[in-house]
Amino acid sequence: MNSKTLLQIAEDHGSPIYVYNSEKIVSQYKRLKQAFNKVKQVKINYAVKALSNLSVLKLMNSLGSGLDTVSIQEVKLGLTAGFDPKDIIYTPNGVSLEEIEMASKLGVQINIDNLSILEQFGTRHPKVPVCIRINPHVMAGGNTNISVGHIDSKFGISIHQIPHILRIVENTNMTINGIHMHTGSDILDIDVFLYASEILFETAKNFTDLEFIDFGSGFKVPYKEGDIETNIEEFGKKLTKRFNEFCKEYGKELTLAFEPGKFLVSEAGYFLTKVNVVKQTTSTVFAQIDSGFNHLIRPMLYGSQHEIVNISNPEGRERFYSVVGYICETDTFANNRRIAEITEGDILAFKNAGAYCFSMASNYNSRYRPAEILWHDKKAHLIRERETFDDILKHQIVLDI
Ligand SMILES: *Cc1c(COP(=O)(O)O)cnc(C)c1O
Repeated sequence: MNSKTLLQIAEDHGSPIYVYNSEKIVSQYKRLKQAFNKVKQVKINYAVKALSNLSVLKLMNSLGSGLDTVSIQEVKLGLTAGFDPKDIIYTPNGVSLEEIEMASKLGVQINIDNLSILEQFGTRHPKVPVCIRINPHVMAGGNTNISVGHIDSKFGISIHQIPHILRIVENTNMTINGIHMHTGSDILDIDVFLYASEILFETAKNFTDLEFIDFGSGFKVPYKEGDIETNIEEFGKKLTKRFNEFCKEYGKELTLAFEPGKFLVSEAGYFLTKVNVVKQTTSTVFAQIDSGFNHLIRPMLYGSQHEIVNISNPEGRERFYSVVGYICETDTFANNRRIAEITEGDILAFKNAGAYCFSMASNYNSRYRPAEILWHDKKAHLIRERETFDDILKHQIVLDI
């Protein structure tokens, strides 16, 4: 999206505001689909937690995507958006048996990631086919915050516990219809991913009733200049070959499933904020915006770098700024970043603001969560209103003190 369009949206709808470009979401979806066009059955299940706005979910539904959900609330959001329960996979971690039973009753595919629940669920509902989340103990990313496949991870059932899984399956007579892994949020190296896939194939041979193999996600998208991006096309070619070989060996045409979040929506998003104050100290020029980690926490939580563009003065001379928020905490978005000259009142656009941005927003400092816009068919559609003071008061019970 160009600066002029974004600026117009900020003028019409105020700031801070999230803007998502549906065209980019569609093209990313098609790209991934295309990369696996030599596999007979491919299912892309969009990871709701990346960006859970109902209109975005409806867009995914219109593309033929399924959903990957991690809570009963996300399951309900998916159903509300019109998804068939069969197109929803529920992959929780550490939730109660009751919640899993609730999801199962709604008809979605259950994915279990611990032996305790597997045994309890299998005992009570032997007729419900279940997918198993395996931990292949492969580190796909460099950052331990977002690599979930390693030995001490809380996610998945260890491959070393396959004998125990098989014992439970035999004792309960349950059906395992899928095998799943999700090794973390940044595939730096296709070969690491393929290595983990081999472990998944090995595991799959233990189960006779499989319908699908789910390779999770972790596709990397570029955040800043010079960033590596997962080469989806090369990855598609390599995994397709191995997957089709495996299906032959297994003796059945299985469905290849993925559950990308970031890959589909990250680059489609922009976060527009206004510069309240330009503050010069003895060593730094701060640009203080009308936001903070209450609206965009990734830079502080993960050290993520979001590119920042001054869309009010895109051609301006570049100077060094530290972009910070208005929260009473250190909420630094960027340190000594080159940005086109900033004047108070300018609108700064954060890129890659589609995934894990709004969905991680909070009301800290009693601020309102931002509005959201879907840029669709060349028009800006408001898809979430900015919160109001009523939202801050909602659910509070005021004591008569
Ligand atoms: C978060 C998550 C995803 C999506 O990961 P991305 O890095 O956003 O693609 C997929 N599967 C599971 C189980 C997840 O928890």
